[in-house]
Amino acid sequence: MKLLNRIGAMASISRRFLLKWPAATYAVSVLGARDGSAHSRMRRDVDVAIVGAGLSGLCAARLLARAGRSVLVLDARDRVGGRTLNQRIIGNRWVDGGGQWIGGSQTRVMALADELGIQRVPQYTTGLGVAYANGTRITFERDTPSAETLRIQVMLENLSRQVPLDAPWNAAEAALLDAQSVADWLQANNVGAEASQAVAATIGTTLSASPENTSLLWFLFYLRSAGGFAELNDGAQQHRLEGGAQSLSVRLAEELAGSVVLGAPVRRIKGWCSDSVLLHSDAGTVRARRAIVAMMPRDMQRIDFTPALPRNRDALQRHWGASSGFKVHIVFDRPFWRDQGLSGIGFMDSGGVEVTFDSTPADGAVGVLLAFVNPAASRLSAAARRERIIEDVSKLFGEQARAPLDYVEQDWTRETWTAGCVSPQPPGLISSSGSALKAPTGRIHWAGTETSGVWCGYIEGAIRAGERAAAEVLEQLAFD
Ligand SMILES: Cc1cc2nc3c(=O)[nH]c(=O)nc-3n(C[C@H](O)[C@H](O)[C@H](O)COP(=O)(O)OP(=O)(O)OC[C@H]3O[C@@H](n4cnc5c(N)ncnc54)[C@H](O)[C@@H]3O)c2cc1C
Repeated sequence: MKLLNRIGAMASISRRFLLKWPAATYAVSVLGARDGSAHSRMRRDVDVAIVGAGLSGLCAARLLARAGRSVLVLDARDRVGGRTLNQRIIGNRWVDGGGQWIGGSQTRVMALADELGIQRVPQYTTGLGVAYANGTRITFERDTPSAETLRIQVMLENLSRQVPLDAPWNAAEAALLDAQSVADWLQANNVGAEASQAVAATIGTTLSASPENTSLLWFLFYLRSAGGFAELNDGAQQHRLEGGAQSLSVRLAEELAGSVVLGAPVRRIKGWCSDSVLLHSDAGTVRARRAIVAMMPRDMQRIDFTPALPRNRDALQRHWGASSGFKVHIVFDRPFWRDQGLSGIGFMDSGGVEVTFDSTPADGAVGVLLAFVNPAASRLSAAARRERIIEDVSKLFGEQARAPLDYVEQDWTRETWTAGCVSPQPPGLISSSGSALKAPTGRIHWAGTETSGVWCGYIEGAIRAGERAAAEVLEQLAFD
């Protein structure tokens, strides 16, 4: 009975796990060479320098360039796209090592993909899910939440309406909401096990965190920013992008050719409170009238700001919560699980594979299973990890899973320039330091998906944040 309950609970969070996230990297035309000599000679004067060639930075650059402003985008990596990453698999096809799913209410990314000529691939979800726990395998149908779960979700959605999307720290009783974790709220409201588990599943899949360590204020903001539970749990993962989500950034960088410098970690930003800002990178120096820094606040901690940033801003960056992610794609000659009436959605509690999805390319020429793997797996040797993951996947999908054609990993904890995939915030941070999240600091403007009031944390939020920062800069440049 206990096992059945457990599997039932796993099954009941099936749809919510659809939100669980995830490099041959594209080369793009860049300014300068990557060898030190060419870099060290770079001296540029531009209207706007942008730090970070993820989607946020590139969308900001595009708007500014279209408005006739000179821009230069600097990225630490030798590729664009940041937390989106195309990885080549056998047969010259691509999978997403980073952000991948988009949904219908994410209007900016849908429009951008259309504009850049990148097709959408519907996410395959037809058929039964499969779960494996305590040595037992079951299949299950997709569920609908219970009446009690729906009631709790409505309560939280109603509460979230008091959190302003442009300034969650200004919510009525922000300090009170931020002083408690989501777990405190569930307990205070006597929420039963099943509904609590459903909320925990949403937090686990969207923020890679638990109700115990997530601020209620931040979760309410996140919930409202996405448009509610249905959007968070189902709406955000309706499509993938043909060729991989990094293709958005690759195309944007091609448009901006000559204005994107790779292999250029920005080490210091000087003079944010004077007439111009000076950015020192490994590629050289850029003087700009304004700068946009477009990345997760935690990643900004690596940059030395002179003079020091205001206390609130510094605290925000220093204490910003970031969570890890580990994706593995396993390639087969065809999506054989579909023949068995399986959707490719699978759950395990083995400590290795946590959840799987069908990531087969649109032409179906090969079958691809995506596995989200427990980050602890990074402690195993590469060979032991591969063996373990294939063993887990074969427990879910049978013996055919033991003969993959290809196997590709992406462990985000090993990335130098990305502190984390998504941003769970602990109680206390947003009400005390949140007001510094996107208010410009002198000549520095802050972007990155974390600054977006709509679909914060998602590709959609990154695009919106970049466009918001560009508009802010354009307005200021008119007065400078
Ligand atoms: C595993 C995983 C799965 C995900 N799944 C989804 C999903 O399915 N759907 C979805 O919508 N979102 C998903 N996301 C989130 C999504 O990918 C991000 O929200 C989005 O890509 C963030 O874009 P950004 O431009 O704000 O930041 P980033 O992409 O992080 O860009 C920041 C850039 O700054 C650069 N940088 C850092 N430090 C410096 C420095 N000192 N100098 C110069 N450059 C620097 C980095 O190299 C990077 O290119 C996922 C993310 C991960 C990691």
